[in-house]
Amino acid sequence: ASDVYKRQVLKYFKTKKTVMKKVLVAGGAGFIGSHLCEKLINQGNHVTCLDNFFTGNKSKVEDLISNPNFELIDHDVIEPYSNTVDEIFNLACPASPIHYQVDPIKTIKTSVLGAMNMLGLAKNENAKILQASTSEVYGEPEIHPQHEEYWGNVNPIGKRSCYNEGKRCAESLFINYHTQHNLKIKIIRIFNTYGPKMDVDDGRVISNFVIQALKGQDITIYGDGKQTRSFQYVDDLVNGMIQMMNTPDEFTGPVNIGNPEEYTMLELVQFILELTNSKSKLIFYPLPEDDPKRRRPNIDLAREKFENWEPKIKLREGLIKTGIQQPYLYDRTSLQYIKILIYNYNNNIINSLQNL
Ligand code: NAD
Ligand code: UDP
Repeated sequence: ASDVYKRQVLKYFKTKKTVMKKVLVAGGAGFIGSHLCEKLINQGNHVTCLDNFFTGNKSKVEDLISNPNFELIDHDVIEPYSNTVDEIFNLACPASPIHYQVDPIKTIKTSVLGAMNMLGLAKNENAKILQASTSEVYGEPEIHPQHEEYWGNVNPIGKRSCYNEGKRCAESLFINYHTQHNLKIKIIRIFNTYGPKMDVDDGRVISNFVIQALKGQDITIYGDGKQTRSFQYVDDLVNGMIQMMNTPDEFTGPVNIGNPEEYTMLELVQFILELTNSKSKLIFYPLPEDDPKRRRPNIDLAREKFENWEPKIKLREGLIKTGIQQPYLYDRTSLQYIKILIYNYNNNIINSLQNL
């Protein structure tokens, strides 16, 4: 009977994952980080969110703040940090060109010193650590679609270099901590991502176009609008990030995570105008310096290494899920907030959108 009991106890611990992991999300109060924190909490982990609130804000994680397994800490990753931790996701870095170019030296410090501090923490704690790298490491790509073996075509002194060279240096740091100190590291290269909780003033293309369409303002197309991007819905990314963290220790990446459906900015505008029922006109501005002409991920590696992972949400469906049609209040800065204002406006409850 005692053998049967032992087997039962063993089975119980094997099937029921009772161990609560201590996970740290640097940049957790940002757009992607807030979705990741929510998913990790829902999976039963303890989550510490580190953020300096440069582009993120508390309202993005406000649903989690009362949860005893969630901790929000105001911390700048360019300063060292210590805590007990099993896993680290390093997302701390402004991601929108207008934000990362405001103070380019700070952006480099955040990428490079931030990565070193998080790697130092991982080393002290013997924790696994994942770096949120970017498709920007490919620069203006000469091969299309981009696979992980491609080394990229980056202008080291251009306006984007604070971001893409910072991220490239961070990848190098990660790999070298792995080879030199045997750290368990993971590198993912994220392609353009969108979804609920994007900031209205983020400055990236989807939030800009949606806000302009909703306000009836001219839609700002940079260049001729024929440049392409491949947009993934945030849930597909977050699933991929967690899958990557769970791959065997010997797999470090880098691995692309994105949706290979590719659209020109002119095609994107058409989706948004149709879904928001907007009559906004297009206005053309010069293409910013070093703005890549084409971008699309090859995701064969992610498909091979992750269990059952596939980008599931197509662009039109994802825009609807983002809430660009149904007005409801989420927080002060998300797209949903502007939607409720538009909704109220349409119902003559408020009479001006000028202050937005
Ligand atoms: P975001 O700007 O919404 O989030 C970044 C978060 O990092 C914010 O909460 C910000 O306050 C925080 N942060 C910035 N500097 C910091 C510092 N020095 N110390 C602590 N916190 C700091 O951007 P996002 O779209 O959520 O991007 C998250 C990560 O994913 C970034 O590292 C970005 O480079 C990467 N990424 C995003 C995309 C995308 O399409 N969204 C694409 C490629 C890579
Ligand atoms: N873009 C645009 N209008 C905008 C914002 C961006 O036409 O109001 C273009 C931008 O020039 C780029 C593409 O949309 O070609 C994606 O820009 P975003 O800043 O979202 O991301 P990234 O260039 O980093 O991929």
